[in-house]
Amino acid sequence: MTLDITLKHRFGDFALDVAFRAPAGVTALFGPSGSGKTTVIHAVAGLIRPDQGRISVGGVAVLDTAAGHALPPHRRRIGYVFQDARLFPHLTVRQNLLYGRWFAPKGSGPGLDRIVEMLGIGPLLARRPGALSGGERQRVAIGRAILSNPRLLALDEPLAALDDPRKAEILPYLERLRDDLGLPMLYVSHAMTEVARLADTVVLMAAGRVTAAGPAAEILSDPAIAPGLGLR
Ligand code: ADP
Repeated sequence: MTLDITLKHRFGDFALDVAFRAPAGVTALFGPSGSGKTTVIHAVAGLIRPDQGRISVGGVAVLDTAAGHALPPHRRRIGYVFQDARLFPHLTVRQNLLYGRWFAPKGSGPGLDRIVEMLGIGPLLARRPGALSGGERQRVAIGRAILSNPRLLALDEPLAALDDPRKAEILPYLERLRDDLGLPMLYVSHAMTEVARLADTVVLMAAGRVTAAGPAAEILSDPAIAPGLGLR
């Protein structure tokens, strides 16, 4: 199992209480806004400290509150992609990518040239983020995250800030990364189109709970579940 997660956390009236396991491949955390998806991915990456829980990624325990164990975020080897790219505006695309590479254990992980080619960002290398489209910025952010040679790539609504043509432009790149790189991904989304195209495993969430989890083909076609998935 690549992901093994048990978490409890409260934010005021909101109570998160989830447990799921997922094999390698793309795991989608899928559910409406406010269901707790971001809280889960933040806990996995170490961006929040949950009240209680155990998280293991690729067989490595990154958190076990009962044992008083929590790896700091930079030692979890989780690449993180935010909705709004968050590139360094004063650095070129190449420098942003090399920043990611700097975190990879020496000599490990995919090479810069391969990732640049896979994401089609070669022509952008000398530009600064301000001169890129939203979709181009997000491709660079994904490249920067991958170049740190993570054991998991965590993406929090990576397409939500983009218009439909830009979403359509990026999806094939994500499919390519999934198929060619074999890098496990945790993909937060409330968009059925993205989940249906990318996910191997779907973890369906509502109001802080997991309501269904399993292979995407089963969950998304289950007559007891599918009709309720008209999410936006
Ligand atoms: P989703 O990603 O599914 O939209 P979130 O995990 O962002 O859901 O939010 C779940 C709930 O937790 C929401 O009610 C949200 O307002 C609350 N919440 C999230 N982060 C915080 C925070 N840092 N402080 C207080 N409440 C928060």
